[in-house]
Amino acid sequence: MITAEDMAKVLENYDLKKIAIGTLGSHSSLNIFKGAKEEGFRTVCVCKEKDAIMYQKFPLADELIIVKDFTELLGEELQEKLRRLNVVLIPHGSFTAYLSTDQLQNKLNVPMFGNRELLHWEADRKQQEEWLHKAGLRLPATFKSPDEIDRLTIVKLPGAKGGKGYFLCNSPSAFYRKFTEMVARRLLTEEDIDKVHLQEYALGVNVYPSYFSSIIKNDVELLAMDRRYESAVDSIGKIPASQQLEIDVNPTYTVVGNFPIVLRESLLPEIMRMGDNVHKKARELAPPGIIGPFCLETVITDDLKIFTFEISARIVAGTNVGIGTSPYAYLRYGENVYMGRRIAMEIKEAIKVNRLNEIAV
Ligand code: AMP
Ligand code: AMP
Repeated sequence: MITAEDMAKVLENYDLKKIAIGTLGSHSSLNIFKGAKEEGFRTVCVCKEKDAIMYQKFPLADELIIVKDFTELLGEELQEKLRRLNVVLIPHGSFTAYLSTDQLQNKLNVPMFGNRELLHWEADRKQQEEWLHKAGLRLPATFKSPDEIDRLTIVKLPGAKGGKGYFLCNSPSAFYRKFTEMVARRLLTEEDIDKVHLQEYALGVNVYPSYFSSIIKNDVELLAMDRRYESAVDSIGKIPASQQLEIDVNPTYTVVGNFPIVLRESLLPEIMRMGDNVHKKARELAPPGIIGPFCLETVITDDLKIFTFEISARIVAGTNVGIGTSPYAYLRYGENVYMGRRIAMEIKEAIKVNRLNEIAV
């Protein structure tokens, strides 16, 4: 396993005056690169040929390293190149989507702005729930067996891309009836019955607050908020109910974009306490806790209860709605601060006070 000590040794050979900020060319890379450049860093983008157009049209990457596949990031040749360029990597959703957390923990010999152990906690649904529970957050109830279902429940499959095959039910009999239907329609297989995750469905609106945990300032900042634009679930309302029944639609949740949100102000204190508590618990589970951005995926019900159903212990693409500025970043920093820039500000400050080895690990 790669340790902070290993990365400290790598950093000893870095030229601190020439630190570059690097990431994979997708997800929130433009956000990250723009912020890095505004703070005076060089930028390095590991990118697929077909996506290079993005960095020609938005010239934010000083170095473009073309790869066939993102897994090349695990190879010694590319890593040596990145180390020679004094790169600190910023992990985002494509790191966890296309590489495993084991690979990130054991094979990525380049300093990374983020707690690798927490990415591991994040990847495991059980561990994630334990973390959020211990932080005192309200989670949707889970049921061990379909026979226990006593309220509106969402049935999830592990690793389902975009919620394919998810369905809702509100009793054991409804579960078995719908499951059989899903099997008949080949959306699920008989074997899936042992793999389903049964979670109380929190009926409400989705809110995704994004925070920045500063190890250097020892504080958690609320910086952005968004919600997702998901296909096909967000388009079902365009079809009259009678026709929905006729075509027997089953909503999936493939993210296509995001909207910014400003929250009812009286909800902010709880949202802030939740962020503080999640970091505090993370510090106990995996010191020094969350390094940099994280996001809680929540549903807020009509009695204003905030249910958290997931955490991302890294930058989420929803912060892209704040590129330039978000209201919450503005309240804290004034104009022109957003998640990508906040990351670069932290790295710059850490270099200045000689603490880079605490956050590039
Ligand atoms: P991509 O590089 O676009 O394939 O995305 C990598 C991972 O991040 C996938 O798991 C996506 O579902 C997720 N993702 C990408 N963009 C967004 C977005 N705008 N909002 C939420 N999740 C996203
Ligand atoms: P997931 O695969 O867990 O990210 O869930 C996909 C989508 O389903 C989320 O983006 C939410 O919109 C919705 N969702 C998941 N779990 C719940 C829940 N317990 N209550 C309400 N909505 C949920």
